[in-house]
Amino acid sequence: MTPRGPQETLEHAQTERRHAMVEGQIERRGVHDPDVLSALRTVPRHLFVPTEVEDRAYDDAALPIGFGQTISQPYIVALMTVLAEVTLRSRVLEVGSGSGYQTAILAELADRVYTVERRRELEERARLILAKLGYHNVTTVLGDGSLGLPEQAPFDRIVVTAAAPSPPPPLLEQLAEGGRLVVPIGPAGGDQVLVVVTRTADGWHEVESIPCRFVPLLGESGYRDVEGQEPP
Ligand code: SAH
Repeated sequence: MTPRGPQETLEHAQTERRHAMVEGQIERRGVHDPDVLSALRTVPRHLFVPTEVEDRAYDDAALPIGFGQTISQPYIVALMTVLAEVTLRSRVLEVGSGSGYQTAILAELADRVYTVERRRELEERARLILAKLGYHNVTTVLGDGSLGLPEQAPFDRIVVTAAAPSPPPPLLEQLAEGGRLVVPIGPAGGDQVLVVVTRTADGWHEVESIPCRFVPLLGESGYRDVEGQEPP
């Protein structure tokens, strides 16, 4: 056997941590979708977090990514992905790219992913890492994702990773018939609930999933004024 170089040893350790994360945090909590588990084993989460917190990338927790924003806890990413029911044919819109980690998970499973981020620095960082890892089916967009992306609509799936006061009307409109929207709903900084909205021929149907806590969706169809949040 050829001895491993230091870089290889490090990558190997991260892969082991990632597999342990999937088993201990995701499967143990009842997520068994093989495609979602495989995506979580594949995407190198440690490359999506700032170097200061890289050693905590596989912890059972959300982590700071700068600008008062967070990368979601691995289990929440898994759950949102399961709830979205993404398939290889899905055109997906993600609102709130943040680190780009959830984007990469969606890109492993979908045909195409559009992701919108309002903070320039985060959009840039997500764009660079996603390109470096070869996610050619992702388009990153800088802007107010609470308004959706009308020029690319309709979408089969919409995943919002910031909490809204109610499902943003533009996103409901941009959902294809048979489509699914996953969005945390509730007060900024308070207890929220993950909501799944499906669109059928006769309208929109809402089902509540689990309680959660996300940073607020700031924008025209989100929260307009949240204390402590600087403009982009
Ligand atoms: N999915 C991300 C979560 C990031 S936190 C991850 O796992 O890393 C939520 C993100 O939503 C933040 O980056 C925040 O800047 C962004 N955001 C908030 N309001 C937004 C809006 N109206 N449009 C686009 N992005 C928004």
